[in-house]
Amino acid sequence: MSSFKTEPKTNYQTLLTSHPNLRLDSIKGLCFGTIALEMLTKHYGSPLWIINADIIKSRYQRLTQAFQPKKIDVSIHYAVKANDHLAVIDLLAKEGAGVDIVSLGELKRALQVHINPKKICFSGVGKTEEELKTAIDLELGQINVESREELLLISQVAQQRGKKAAICLRINPDVNAKTHHKITTGLAENKFGIAYQHALPVYKEAYQLSHIIPLGFDVHIGSQISSVEPYQKAFVKMVDLIQHARLEGLKVSVLDCGGGFGISYYNEKEANPVELADLMDKTFASLDLHLCIEPGRWLVGPAGILISKVTRRKDNESKAAPFIILDAAMNDLIRPAMYDAWHGILPVQAEIYNRPLESLNIDGPICESSDIFARQRNLPSLKEGDDIAILDTGAYGHVMSSSYNARPQALQLMIKNNKVHLIKPRQTIEELWNKEIIPE
Ligand SMILES: *Cc1c(COP(=O)(O)O)cnc(C)c1O
Repeated sequence: MSSFKTEPKTNYQTLLTSHPNLRLDSIKGLCFGTIALEMLTKHYGSPLWIINADIIKSRYQRLTQAFQPKKIDVSIHYAVKANDHLAVIDLLAKEGAGVDIVSLGELKRALQVHINPKKICFSGVGKTEEELKTAIDLELGQINVESREELLLISQVAQQRGKKAAICLRINPDVNAKTHHKITTGLAENKFGIAYQHALPVYKEAYQLSHIIPLGFDVHIGSQISSVEPYQKAFVKMVDLIQHARLEGLKVSVLDCGGGFGISYYNEKEANPVELADLMDKTFASLDLHLCIEPGRWLVGPAGILISKVTRRKDNESKAAPFIILDAAMNDLIRPAMYDAWHGILPVQAEIYNRPLESLNIDGPICESSDIFARQRNLPSLKEGDDIAILDTGAYGHVMSSSYNARPQALQLMIKNNKVHLIKPRQTIEELWNKEIIPE
């Protein structure tokens, strides 16, 4: 994963080439699809998020088309946590996707857009009894079980409710996904899943439980993975496990292959759905399995942009690069602060592109040194009042925002059928405290 330590000396041409959905018009400035971005902050204020439904749809179709010619039977469960706006879930549901959810809140969001409970997969390492009751009552398609303890609780709750719960065991394959350590999930040291060597005994135990329907296994090794190699390593282990289980007379009908497919933030290689489909076909075709995948970032990441206005330019004589302070901050987009994530930045107005390039630090206004968007980035010279677009923020962007520093959450727009729609107004300042209580 890109980090500030290895900041590429990019310029905007490289970014425009690697982001075909963005176009620079010599009069209208930066365009996202067919929409010129320059009028948006005038009309809606800043900062603002834009999610492009047309891009999500075409990415979803690219993914399904990769699997179409294959013999394997695969269903796609969108990982709601990447972007949980109802309009996004609704859009993907209408394209035919199921969902992967990790909380009661995400479950309710999915139900709100009428997703069939059979197309819902419930993941998460600490599901509460209340969450499990709801999941079991709704007879969700699949609960991905993260521990033996959870299996026993599910069995007990299902019995109390007079229901049967369909489950997959999430296995920790102990493979290195070669991604940022904060988004690696498939190493033995991570909290996720049942240790590979305990998988078979726990699956056998699941078979003994009268209110459990054991479907098979689940493996999710991390996020922002750009090569198929870590998947291959995990899948080989899963094949071995499935064969062992079957030799012992246990039925295995489902393998959930997880998500984690990487995107191109700079010009790194995006995970290629055709390569993934080839690998899954080659590995699993002879095993008579129903396969699932749970992509989040890959579907929605490149479809989102955060637009922000330059509040201040701070020329600092003791430092090489001036500080450009934006009106967006780490409370809006936390990925650079949290994961050292690198996001492309492009000016919005056409006229900015005529200025000379310089090396700039791009920062938020929050009272934390980690409130950073970019270090020593080569950009056309920026000044107060300019708008800039922070790219590839459709996944783990707005969903992770907070109101730290009493900053209201930014407004959200959606581009759909080449038109701009308001999908969530800016939070008002009064809304920040309207449920707060001062005791006597
Ligand atoms: C987060 C998560 C995903 C989605 O990960 P992406 O990197 O966004 O594709 C899928 N499955 C599980 C269990 C997850 O926790």
